[in-house]
Amino acid sequence: MEYVSTRGSAPALDFEGVALAGLASDGGLYLPRQWPRFSEAQIRGLRGLAYWEFAVEVIRPFVGDSLTERELGAICHEVYGNAFAHEAVTPLVQLDPRNWLLELFHGPTLAFKDVALQLLGRLFETFLERRGERLTIVGATSGDTGSAAINAVAGLDRVEIFMLHPRGRVSEVQRRQMTTVRAPNVHNLAIEGSFDDAQAHVKRMFGDPAINGPLSLGAVNSINWARLMAQVVYYFYSAVQLGAPDRKVAYSVPTGNFGDVFAGYVAERMGLPIERLIVATNVNDILVRALARGDYSASGVTPTITPSMDIQVSSNFERLLFDCGGRDGAAMAAQMAGFAETKAMQLTNAQREGASALFRGFSADQDATARAMQWAHQAAGQVIDPHTAVGLSAARTALQEEAVDPSVPLVTLATAHPAKFREAVERAIGVRPNLPARVGDLFAREERFTELPGDYEASRDFVLTHALAGTRGSSAEA
Ligand SMILES: *Cc1c(COP(=O)(O)O)cnc(C)c1O
Repeated sequence: MEYVSTRGSAPALDFEGVALAGLASDGGLYLPRQWPRFSEAQIRGLRGLAYWEFAVEVIRPFVGDSLTERELGAICHEVYGNAFAHEAVTPLVQLDPRNWLLELFHGPTLAFKDVALQLLGRLFETFLERRGERLTIVGATSGDTGSAAINAVAGLDRVEIFMLHPRGRVSEVQRRQMTTVRAPNVHNLAIEGSFDDAQAHVKRMFGDPAINGPLSLGAVNSINWARLMAQVVYYFYSAVQLGAPDRKVAYSVPTGNFGDVFAGYVAERMGLPIERLIVATNVNDILVRALARGDYSASGVTPTITPSMDIQVSSNFERLLFDCGGRDGAAMAAQMAGFAETKAMQLTNAQREGASALFRGFSADQDATARAMQWAHQAAGQVIDPHTAVGLSAARTALQEEAVDPSVPLVTLATAHPAKFREAVERAIGVRPNLPARVGDLFAREERFTELPGDYEASRDFVLTHALAGTRGSSAEA
């Protein structure tokens, strides 16, 4: 399987190459040159398999020669056979005759990002060992990516991780899940500014030869193709349980960076009968506007009770625009250059039509989010987190407005455990969800992080100094 960049000029890479590279060297995002297709018979053949076996089948066409059958099987078994607290890994829960939840939060850090990052950690280990190389991961987090990534790579010999979070703007549970991990390869940087500032620093490091040269930088945010690939698995797993390929299924996906919902698009391209994908946002609704009117224009970020979706620019949307817009890398590069300059762009007709064939966007404000939490609690006895509630609110609006075929099951992705955002849950329904036992004594453990000012150089120089120190240390030992 070969991967190409959305901006057309970076070299094509194999799976191992894209997993380690993250962002393409031309600033674009990698995608498979063509989508693998599953026949109806192949999809039927998945019935009854365990989650890890689903993962092997769905992932196999994407990895090509980068992993042997035996390596892929061992990795999927290790990750999905062990690291999750529920035997089904991502269980389905029925809310009413039409609505379902797909619980994606049974991993170690209580959000869906574990599902992909636990796999990515094992892939890094396998590929770096084989190459005899080291990788310096730099990432920015609004909360959940950071803890999931740190948990996935803590203690790995060949990986050093630097995670930037906006100081004071992540929840206490989220911060503690990052800062109480005691492995020597983990560095938490609390920077002055917003999540978008932190992400801008990280993007700039990838293009800065002063750092991406002396160090080999890797990415763990959802620009990394391997993450999206891992998320395709649970669309197959849930749809097959609900009757695919003989019955269609629709999904409502709480969305920030457009990663999780893009994985649903990939599943549909591969032949899974997905009737509709609902893009559910909070009041930071650039995607809803883009899908409704073709107007993709960024404004300031409004902080909400769903901080993991407080994002104005959705990196992975570029993948959809590229795929729907005829896969023209040069045109995509020009369109994105225009957007970088003006913070606004108009979708082409092909992009709009391609996107509207499958996607609809709905946003939920704070009241609607609280009402969805109340409805889930009262009507179905389920305590849900506010991100999931944004998805459920959009699902219910979509049903009312007939944006979804009334005969198909509608699955809302439950992206976080309610205890991860327990203040907001308690305010909405008066119930304070308990942290599950698997997170241990989170509030008793000592925190470690470094505070830095908001300028780019402060972050870059910290990473340079500390990563090179790590490299010297390890070569001295070797
Ligand atoms: C990251 C995150 C999202 C948004 O996912 P994207 O892939 O960025 O669209 C939604 N909910 C939770 C709880 C998250 O952590």
